[in-house]
Amino acid sequence: MSLKGKTALITGSTSGIGFGIAQNFADQGVNIVMNGFGDSNEIETKRKELEGKGVTAIYHGADMTKPEEIRDMVATAEKEFGNVDILVNNAGIQYVSPIEEFPEEKWDAIIGIVLSSAFHTTKAVLGRMREAGWGRIINMCSAHGLVASPYKTAYVSAKHGILGFTKTMGLEVAQDNITCNAICPGYVFTPLVENQIADTAKARGISEEDVINNVLLAAQWTKKFVTIEQVAGIALFLCSDTAENITGTDIVVDGGWTAA
Ligand code: NAD
Repeated sequence: MSLKGKTALITGSTSGIGFGIAQNFADQGVNIVMNGFGDSNEIETKRKELEGKGVTAIYHGADMTKPEEIRDMVATAEKEFGNVDILVNNAGIQYVSPIEEFPEEKWDAIIGIVLSSAFHTTKAVLGRMREAGWGRIINMCSAHGLVASPYKTAYVSAKHGILGFTKTMGLEVAQDNITCNAICPGYVFTPLVENQIADTAKARGISEEDVINNVLLAAQWTKKFVTIEQVAGIALFLCSDTAENITGTDIVVDGGWTAA
C-alpha cells in the first residue's frame, strides 16, 4: 500500500529523530505536520526542505506540556488535511541528576512532554482517524522504557509509562484498522544525547570521553550509536501492510543493550 497523500503529525520534529522521520515520510509522499521548538528561520528552512520533496508541510509550535495547545495543533492539522493518518509521539527532553537535586519542574516537564502529551495527541486525533478507517500511532520510547539507568528518574518513569499506554491503545483500537506501537532505541547521536554528556560526566565525576565510551556505548554491544535513519526506517515499516498485525508492542533497536 502506498502512503502517498496521507498525513503524519510528528511531535518534536524540528530536530533529531523527529525530523529524520519527517524526511523519510515526506520521501514517501506523506504530508507533514511539524512540531517542536527552535530557531524560526531554521524551522522554516526544514519545512521548505520537506516541501521540496513534493508534499505539503505545515508547522505548529504547540508546547507538549500544554493540552490546549496540543488540541489546537490537531485542529489545525485536521483543518488543513482532513485528518491525521499517522501520529508519531516523539517530542522528548532529558534531565540527568541524583533525585535529591532533581528539580520538581523538570520532573513535571518530562512526564508532561514524554508521557502525558501522547495521551492528549492520541485523544485528539482518534475520532477522525477512526472515521478515516486507517491509522498508525507510533510512540518514541527508548531502551529506558525497558531498563533503568541511575540519575534519570523522570525519563525512565515516563518511558516505562509510554509502553503501558502503547499496550492499552493497541487493544482499544485493534478492530479499527489502527495500530499503536512503540520504538525503543538505544543511544542515537542527536542533540538530546549530546547535551546530556556534560551533565552525566558531572553527576558521575568522570570525563566526557568516558561518558561516551564507558557509559553510553558501554551498554550498546555493537559499539555503535543507532542512526536516525534506522529509527525512521522502523517508523516507516510500522506503517506498511506487513506490520498490520503488529500492535500494542515495541520494536527494540538498541545494539543488544537490553538483551544483556
Ligand atoms: P532532540 O533533542 O533532537 O529532539 C527533541 C524534539 O522535541 C525537538 O524537536 C524539540 O524541540 C522537541 N521538544 C522538546 N520539548 C518540547 C515541548 N515542550 N513541546 C514540543 N516539542 C518539544 O532529541 P531526539 O534524540 O531526536 O529525541 C526524540 C525522541 O527520541 C525523544 O522522545 C527521546 O526520548 C527519544 N529517544 C532518543 C534517544 C537518543 O539517544 N537520542 C534514544 C531513545 C529515545
